[in-house]
Amino acid sequence: MFELQGVSHAYDEAEVLHVDAWQAAQGEHWLLLGPSGSGKTTLLHALAGILRPAAGTVTVAGQDLGALGAQLLDRFRGQHIGIVLQRLHLIPSLDVAHNLMLAQYLAGLPQDRQRVDEVLAGLDLADKGSAKPHELSFGQAQRVAIARAVVNRPQLLLADEPTSNLDDARCLQALELLQAQATACNATLLIATHDQRIKSRVAQHYDLGARA
Ligand code: ADP
Ligand code: MG
Repeated sequence: MFELQGVSHAYDEAEVLHVDAWQAAQGEHWLLLGPSGSGKTTLLHALAGILRPAAGTVTVAGQDLGALGAQLLDRFRGQHIGIVLQRLHLIPSLDVAHNLMLAQYLAGLPQDRQRVDEVLAGLDLADKGSAKPHELSFGQAQRVAIARAVVNRPQLLLADEPTSNLDDARCLQALELLQAQATACNATLLIATHDQRIKSRVAQHYDLGARA
C-alpha cells in the first residue's frame, strides 16, 4: 500500500533520515519507532507528500508521489491520505463540522454533511458539530483531528505522536480510536511514536533508532 525505496533526507547537509526499503500492505497497522530526533516526523511528512525527500521514491496506493506536481499532490493527499499531526491544525474560525467539510472541499470531493455527522458520531462528537475548536477539551480536539483525517475514507492513515500528551487511560483510548477508524476504512495505519506504552499493542514495527 505504501513503499519506500532508498529514501533519504537532509537538512543543512546533515542526513536525518535513511530508509533503504520498506513496504506495508493495505490494512496493516504499523508503529514507526525511534528516539526523539531520529526522523519520524520527517518520514511521516514524506509519506504524506508534505515534504519531498532529497532522494528516493515514495509510493502510496500505487502512486509515485514524486511524479505529482504540487496541485495534484494536494488533491491526491486529500483523497487518499489522512493525517493527524502533532499540532492539530483545526481552523479556529470554523466550527467542527465545517472543519471536516473543508477537508472534503480541499480534496475536490462533494460536501457530504451526512458523512461528516456519521464520522463525528463514531468518535463520540455527535453534539460538537457546531462547536468552535476553542470550546473543546484537548481530547475532543484530538478526536476532531482524527475525524477530519478519516472523513474522506483514506487508504493511508498517519498519526504523529498521538498519545504523547495523554495519561494512560486516554493513551489507550486514542490508540484504539485510530485503530478502529483505520479498520473501518481498511486503511493502512502508521503511528509515529516514542511512547513505550503502545509498543506491544501494534503488530508491525519499523524502528528508525535501530537502523541509525
Ligand atoms: P523525530 O520526529 O523522530 O523527533 P524529526 O523528523 O522531527 O525527528 O527530526 C529529525 C532531525 O531533523 C532532528 O535532528 C531535527 O532537529 C532535524 N530537523 C527537523 N526538521 C528540521 C528543519 N525544518 N530544519 C532543520 N532541521 C530539522
Ligand atoms: Mg517528531
